[in-house]
Amino acid sequence: MPQNPQKTVISIKNLRHKYKEGDGEKEVLHGINLDFYSGEIAIIMGPSGSGKSTLLKLIGAQLTIQQGDVIIDGSHLQGAGQSALREIRRKIGFIFQSHHLLNSITVLQNVQLPLAFDKSQDGESSRRLALEALKIVGIEAHAEKKPAHLSGGQKQRVAIARALIRKPAIVLADEPTASLDEKTGREVVDLIKKMSRSLGVTVVLVTHDNRILDIADRIIKINDGNLAG
Ligand code: ADP
Ligand code: MG
Repeated sequence: MPQNPQKTVISIKNLRHKYKEGDGEKEVLHGINLDFYSGEIAIIMGPSGSGKSTLLKLIGAQLTIQQGDVIIDGSHLQGAGQSALREIRRKIGFIFQSHHLLNSITVLQNVQLPLAFDKSQDGESSRRLALEALKIVGIEAHAEKKPAHLSGGQKQRVAIARALIRKPAIVLADEPTASLDEKTGREVVDLIKKMSRSLGVTVVLVTHDNRILDIADRIIKINDGNLAG
């Protein structure tokens, strides 16, 4: 179990979200209330189209909050200005379904990317942090390769290293096993769990893959924009 399961790090209050559709709009999240606790691994499970990615993007300050609020470590996303949003995003690492690596640069440079605009990191310390992160995920030997030369599982490990480089309190993972075979998917989620436990990172993972539910401390179901159960 997580070490400090009682401290709330993410609080979602009455969260609604609409997208434009034709001339009108369609609401895809209908008033979500949900808390996540320090160090836990929570899996949000639901069918395709149920609103999982929208919810994750709202939590990660990748989409503007329309109605309701998300509070990250005491900071309200609703109405937050650009600099406040940047601060909040710094606390969050993202792992996507397809790893979103750039093929024109090396694995090491991909992992360094989140630090590119961080003035407190010079080239040497950013390189060192990236190597450290690659070590945690067990692929430092591939640091100088281009992502195209790695397997799917190795690419997802690079994506995990990139998500970890800023030592985030929170990692959000959107269907991290979707493009992987079962065995590789298992290795990747086991790694996410290990990283969460050793670094105390709160993980919110969305998936419709029920083969990986066993890594969760808590499973939350979403259906058609509502929490189920
Ligand atoms: P999930 O990740 O669970 O598959 P999403 O959050 O991606 O669900 O989508 C929820 C609903 O919102 C779906 O009906 C989807 O078609 C719709 N949707 C998602 N993104 C957009 C968008 N940018 N514009 C319009 N509709 C969208
Ligand atoms: Mg999705």
